[in-house]
Amino acid sequence: MAKSKYEYVRNFETSDKLLPSTWLVVRIDGQGFTKFTKLHEFKKPNDIRALNLMNQAAKTVMESMDEIVLGYGQSDEYSFVFSKDAKAYERRAGKITTLLVSRFTSAYVFYWTEFFPDTPLKVPPAFDSRVVMYPSDRILRDYLCWRQVDCHINNLYNTCFWTLVNKGRLSQKDAEKRLSGTLSKDKNELLFGEFGVNYNDELDIFKKGSVLIRNKELIDVIDPNGQVTKRTKVVVCILHCDIIKDAFWNKHPEIIRG
Ligand code: ATP
Ligand code: ATP
Ligand code: MG
Ligand code: MG
Ligand code: MG
Ligand code: MG
Repeated sequence: MAKSKYEYVRNFETSDKLLPSTWLVVRIDGQGFTKFTKLHEFKKPNDIRALNLMNQAAKTVMESMDEIVLGYGQSDEYSFVFSKDAKAYERRAGKITTLLVSRFTSAYVFYWTEFFPDTPLKVPPAFDSRVVMYPSDRILRDYLCWRQVDCHINNLYNTCFWTLVNKGRLSQKDAEKRLSGTLSKDKNELLFGEFGVNYNDELDIFKKGSVLIRNKELIDVIDPNGQVTKRTKVVVCILHCDIIKDAFWNKHPEIIRG
């Protein structure tokens, strides 16, 4: 490409390269989803269709960026963990965050009708995106604990709130008042004592969120002669499990070890 006299303006671009050898976590979050969920009549507190759509969009992202080792999603947010030595886009923050969030958003729209066949999309949704560097394995794990604990706290609160509103016939204001100052224990007792709801029986996808990892699977390959051979294929799979305790990390040591 011929150079023009205007080429010099490139010199005004500043570097936004992320540090080497650090975990990179990109977190995206739906913009104004309190309004978006009302507009599209999401079921409260948890619309499973919306969570499945988030997971599908996240899976699309992971399939397009192979240095992502884990995804964690809840509510209108998703976190993506890039391996410490990820080389994507020379670790340029802007490239990574914008390409990831635009792929996520377009996939969310692309798959919308599959998950909401009877609900037309009324406005184009948007997600924000940031990238944070975490210098140690422990801090990375604490980051993920933070998000999963957030999921648990919000879900317990929301489950109580909407049970009080829907089954207890309380106004939203009164439900809020009823819950103010209550501890987890009180909320569990309220659900069980007044409504016969055992919080433990709620779906794991609601209580724990969604964890996307890559798994090696054995698949059958059929050659032109009809011979069947086994081959391993890496597939993104979705779990709804605890990622706070050691058990998950002991079962999947390759996530941290690489
Ligand atoms: P911001 O732009 O600051 O992120 P927001 O309105 O999106 O504003 P959040 O804190 O991100 O605020 O909250 C997300 C909102 O979306 C909450 O009200 C949450 O209950 C709702 N929401 C997200 N996912 C679902 C779902 N699957 N089912 C029902 N409601 C959902
Ligand atoms: P990168 O990911 O680095 O941006 P790229 O392939 O998108 O790679 P660009 O320099 O952005 O590279 O070039 C855009 C390409 O898309 C060019 O090949 C251009 O000719 C083509 N293109 C863009 N818009 C049109 C259009 N309206 N009609 C035909 N071709 C187009
Ligand atoms: Mg936010
Ligand atoms: Mg949001
Ligand atoms: Mg959110
Ligand atoms: Mg281009």
